[in-house]
Amino acid sequence: MFNTNRVRIAMQKTGRLSSESIKLLTCCGIKINLKQQKLIAFAENMPIDVMLVRDDDIPGLVMDGVVDLGIVGENVLQEELLHRISQNLENSYITLRRLDFGICRLSLAIPINTPYVDITSLKNFRIATSYPHLLKKYLDSKNIVFKSCMLNGSVEVAPRAGLADAICDLVSTGATLEANGLREVQVVFRSHACLICKTGNINFAKKEVINKLMTRIKGVIKARESKYIMLHAPVNKLEEVISLLHGAEKPTILKLAGDDHRVAMHMVSSETLFWETMEKLKSLGASSILVLPIEKMME
Ligand code: ATP
Ligand code: MG
Repeated sequence: MFNTNRVRIAMQKTGRLSSESIKLLTCCGIKINLKQQKLIAFAENMPIDVMLVRDDDIPGLVMDGVVDLGIVGENVLQEELLHRISQNLENSYITLRRLDFGICRLSLAIPINTPYVDITSLKNFRIATSYPHLLKKYLDSKNIVFKSCMLNGSVEVAPRAGLADAICDLVSTGATLEANGLREVQVVFRSHACLICKTGNINFAKKEVINKLMTRIKGVIKARESKYIMLHAPVNKLEEVISLLHGAEKPTILKLAGDDHRVAMHMVSSETLFWETMEKLKSLGASSILVLPIEKMME
């Protein structure tokens, strides 16, 4: 039975965002029973229901108020937003947070042998894409006239198949483009996964759950971005050591038993410690340098 006090979150059922989305909720301490492949999974320890759908459906489910929250790529979100604006459909939502996964870019790519000087080289090209609105918005802003060829999948084979002169598709490493004899010439849109919320009335009980979830998500992402650093350093080189640790805040300094010339330093750093920095620390006389992952964090 549909319970109005349970927060409904839409996320991708299978695909590039699904395991990271589930992992995020799991790291937030939410126990979800995903054993049966159903449309809706229920959290056991929080009033949260997870709706597992295709990513393209997520922005619409939030904008139509069918679910309270959604985890979706900004590329899909912006494309749906532009579509809904063009059709005068309901299109309001709130972005609660950009997430730390699903990082990719929507780029224009052309066959390696096609000459390219700048964006005007694409004038009058036929461009295959699954993102016609984002592509049009970008090329209109550059005053480039083009023809769009809408494809829902296998966009990268369109030039070889003679369907298009160029493509506009998602890229992360560029390996797929290279394998298809294409080269990336222009980034159209940079994307992350994000957490979005419906607008309008949300009852108090649900708001409390959403606020609790947001605090936990913030803590999980902060912890994932941070490292705990421990090292021993000579007292007379403390300032130089601290100046090498850019992302670190207010280190804790502890005495070492039986050694007046060295201290132990503990700190949380928002940046990982690269080998080069560790080597510089070592040359300043630091030793026992440990870089540890942080599991949870609350400020
Ligand atoms: P669905 O069946 O749910 O419609 P899909 O095939 O449309 O899935 P996926 O390929 O699973 O979508 O990608 C989902 C989202 O993941 C993309 O819209 C984008 O935001 C993000 N994404 C795409 N490529 C990458 C990548 N290489 N690395 C990380 N994230 C990516
Ligand atoms: Mg999709």
